[in-house]
Amino acid sequence: MTKRELKRQKREKMIEEEGLIFLDGVSKSYSTGAPAINGVTLHIGRGEFVFIVGDSGSGKSTLIKLLLRELTATQGKVYVMGYDLAKLKHRQIPKYRRYLGVVFQDFRLLKDRNVYENVAFAQRIVEKSSKEIRRNVPSILATVGLAGKYKAKPKQLSGGEQQRVALARALVNRPAILLADEPTGNLDPKNSWEIMQLLEEINEAGTTVVVVTHNREIVNAMRKRVITMKRGVVISDVEEGEYNDED
Ligand code: ADP
Ligand code: MG
Repeated sequence: MTKRELKRQKREKMIEEEGLIFLDGVSKSYSTGAPAINGVTLHIGRGEFVFIVGDSGSGKSTLIKLLLRELTATQGKVYVMGYDLAKLKHRQIPKYRRYLGVVFQDFRLLKDRNVYENVAFAQRIVEKSSKEIRRNVPSILATVGLAGKYKAKPKQLSGGEQQRVALARALVNRPAILLADEPTGNLDPKNSWEIMQLLEEINEAGTTVVVVTHNREIVNAMRKRVITMKRGVVISDVEEGEYNDED
């Protein structure tokens, strides 16, 4: 067996035993203040749908940034897809990020490009052929309900539509994991529901989904696993859980 195959087997074993996402005693301190994440251990298995909730400042976005390898842990280990993220070399990071799709509260679309181009751009970065792009972009835009809007620019779209474009862009390269940091934070209740329902469908199609949210009504209705953070610590982790406010 080659060294490469051995490494792949080791990663597969790590995923089997510890989950697709595994934080092992992770802390993250910024240069100022108390640790943003403080001794967090958690496992997220392949195919799970997980909500992460908690007050502002409790460390949720820091956790997402650790998973994206925008930040590295001050202590402990972060493993995603069996990769020890601290051991990734800088040149390996772009390739690692292809496993991940990500959406944010503020959409982060290219303002001067139309819907089609915003999504196609993600495929160009990973060097898909024009033929594949012409096949994949319409397909994912249909999935998110934007089949008729290819030529619109972001400012011609509602917030809900802009978040659908962001979701299409996050999904077009078929990531194993979708990370969403307050994806409905700028949306009205109807659009929030529609985005969450899309996230559920994406999960049912096999993608592991991690959603940071403050949307109590949706969390309570959807009955997914709920991880609650407070001051950098996981204070509860409940299957089919509810939004939890206790101190
Ligand atoms: P949340 O997403 O749950 O609101 P964050 O992860 O953004 O929480 O922040 C957790 C803590 O880390 C907060 O106290 C915040 O002020 C602090 N923090 C976040 N980002 C930085 C940064 N770049 N530099 C210093 N402190 C930060
Ligand atoms: Mg945040």
